[in-house]
Order: sequence, then structure tokens, then C-alpha cells
Amino acid sequence: MLKLAARVGRAKPSAIMVVAEKAKALKAAGRDVINFSIGVPNFLPGPHVYDAVRNALDSDSGQYGSNRGRDDLLDAFLAHMAAIGMDGYTRANCAVAVGAKHILYNLFEAMLDEGDTIAFATPYWTSYLDIAEIVGAKTLLLPCPPEQDYKLTPEQLDAALAQKPRVFLFNNPSNPTGMVYGRDEIAALAKVLVKHPETWVITDDIYNRMVFDGLGYHNFVNAEPSLRDRVVFVDSLSKTYGMPGWRVGLMAGPEVVAKAVVTLNSNHITNIPEVVTAAAVAALSGPQDVPTAKCSEFQGKRDQVIEALQAIPGIVCPRPQGAFYVFPDISVAFGKRHGETLIGNDVDFCAALLEAKAVACVPGSAFGEPRALRISYTCPTAQLAEGLKRIQAFFAELA
Ligand code: PLP
Repeated sequence: MLKLAARVGRAKPSAIMVVAEKAKALKAAGRDVINFSIGVPNFLPGPHVYDAVRNALDSDSGQYGSNRGRDDLLDAFLAHMAAIGMDGYTRANCAVAVGAKHILYNLFEAMLDEGDTIAFATPYWTSYLDIAEIVGAKTLLLPCPPEQDYKLTPEQLDAALAQKPRVFLFNNPSNPTGMVYGRDEIAALAKVLVKHPETWVITDDIYNRMVFDGLGYHNFVNAEPSLRDRVVFVDSLSKTYGMPGWRVGLMAGPEVVAKAVVTLNSNHITNIPEVVTAAAVAALSGPQDVPTAKCSEFQGKRDQVIEALQAIPGIVCPRPQGAFYVFPDISVAFGKRHGETLIGNDVDFCAALLEAKAVACVPGSAFGEPRALRISYTCPTAQLAEGLKRIQAFFAELA
């Protein structure tokens, strides 16, 4: 049998997709499945995006495009950067790739040699670990349990950076917890970053337009402008604009990093498609009513989920202030039975919940926190209410 490269063996299939596949199979078998597993927006981009695509089809030359991304897309992104207080960047600081996942993959390749260390908090977005494995980097995981609202403290960051990891990766608002760092919290972490100049910083902030309760989005560069030489901001159109399948991710940071991503692009993809570029320009620079409306809709749904979870004795759930996830600590269920089924851990819990109530959630261990599970709440309100009712009933039946 011919061997594949070791890096393929190190990458695991996404735990989220495993749950989603099980939910799909149950649905195909006729069950009324409520799917809280995948983090997909349940809406489409505005009509101006489709108009832009139609126009682009008429004028598309079918030729190769820019490795960095087309100028009008970079300019639309720079306008967003300025709107969130990160001005002074130019096209030379930016690059576009096939989704934020691909931007992250490029950044890991650009910054990490085999054996180098990347530090990030747990709970983490699953792909951080997998991409690190693929590029052969070591991970330094910084545990942020529900007792500290799933947030990294300045002391933890200081201790981690004292170990001189090559990269510190930060995610705000967070997938899977939905937690958002406020202005003061960002400022305190930024102060620590200034103390440790030998570490690159990646801020994966693709949910930056989905922040609730008037909290606002804040970035290390806003807090400490001197960090511009080391911080890379990552953005995406997937979640905010209802465009996950269009695959547009963007970055802004030091020129040398953007240049490295452009070089990798030139070898991996050459360019993102021109019609997709037209859609992205329209989404970023056209009317923002879709993201604005969705942000307030998700805030309402967050309230609905939190209220339902708080009614369940023993569940601990820090109140998220962004994205569209909640991450309750359900460990009160461990050691109990649902019917004949013993719930030993988060994976047992999610399997039993899916089997008994046809509700799909992702076990927290997929994100490095085995006491929790992730609920993605983008589905219609009535479905959300029904799913939450079933979760409450499941808990009430535990013995
Ligand atoms: N970063 C985070 C925190 C995410 O939640 C996701 C998608 O779920 C991504 C990056 C990847 O986004 P994209 O669809 O742009 O590749």
C-alpha cells in the first residue's frame, strides 16, 4: 500500500461535520431533526450582490486576476477597516483568499516553521488545532473555563508569552462561546502584548460586525497603535453577509505578512474568481441592512436561548455578546441516565440528545472544553423554540 504524507494523518475530519452528517442521516430516515450543529447563517446576501454578479458575468474577461485581490475589493475592505477605527492601512497591507480558513492556513504557513509554537485559548475554533497539525506546529493551549467567562486574562497571556510562542492567535467574538472582549479587556491584553515583542498576533475577528448590547468591536491595534507591526486582522464575508459558500476571506497587517500571503496565493490559488470578487465588493460597499438586521435578530435569539437554558437547574452559561453561538456547561448531566443510556461525557450527551429528541448540538470537546456543548442558533425562531423545549425535556428526564 502506498503511503500518504504524515501531515494528512495528523488532520482529523471536522467533529462538527460528523454531527451534521448524523443529523442528516436521521432526517433522511424521517425524523424531525432540529439542527443546532453547524455555524451557518440562514439568510442570503442582499439583491445588490446578485446584480453585481450578473453585471460581472457580462463583463468578465475570463483572465487570471490579482494574487493579492482586486483593487476595488481591497479598497472596500480598507473602508471597513477605517470604520472600525483601524485606519492608515493601504492595499499593500491587505490580501484576499478563499475564506478566512484559507487566510489562516496561509498565515500559519507564513509564520510557523515545523516545531514552532502557536498559543491560543480554549475553547477554540476547531480548525486552529487542525491547521496547526498540518503545518507541523506545536500548540500551547490556554484554558479559559466557564468560571472565567471563557475569556483569557492578562495574567494568563503574560505567562504564555513568556514562553515565546512564535504566534498568539486570538478570536473575538468567539466561536464557539459567542463571548466578546470589551474595550477595557482588549486594552489590558494589548498592554501585555506590547511587553512581548517576539510574538506575532493573529486576531481572527470574522464576527466583528455581530456584536450585541451596544458593546462595540475593539481590536488590539485600536488600543495600542504600536502593535500594528505585529498584528494581523482576519475578516470574512461568510457569516455576516450570508455568503459562506462564496469563499471570501481577507486580512490586513504588516506589509511583509500580506506579501507572504500573496506569494502563497500565487502558488495555491492564483486568485479568487472575478465574479466572486464582484459579489464581495457589492457586499462590503453596498447597503449594510442585511448584516445590521441580522445582528439585532441574533441578539434577540441569544436572549431566547439564554432564557431557556437558565430555566434548567445546574446549567452554567456565560452570556454571549456576539456571533451566533452559546456554549453552556452541561456537566451537571454527567453520571446520570436518560432511560437506559448513561451520560458519561459531552459526546454521550450529544449522541443521546440526538437519538432521543432529534436535536443536534456539537460536543464541547470538539473545541477543547469537554464540559460544554455548542448551540448554533441561526435557525428560524419557531424551530429554535422547539429545539430548546426538547433540550429542557431531555434534562427533565435525566435520572
Ligand atoms: N474563524 C472562525 C472563528 C470561524 O468560526 C470560521 C467559520 O466557522 C472561520 C474562521 C472560517 O470562515 P470562512 O468561511 O471565511 O472560511
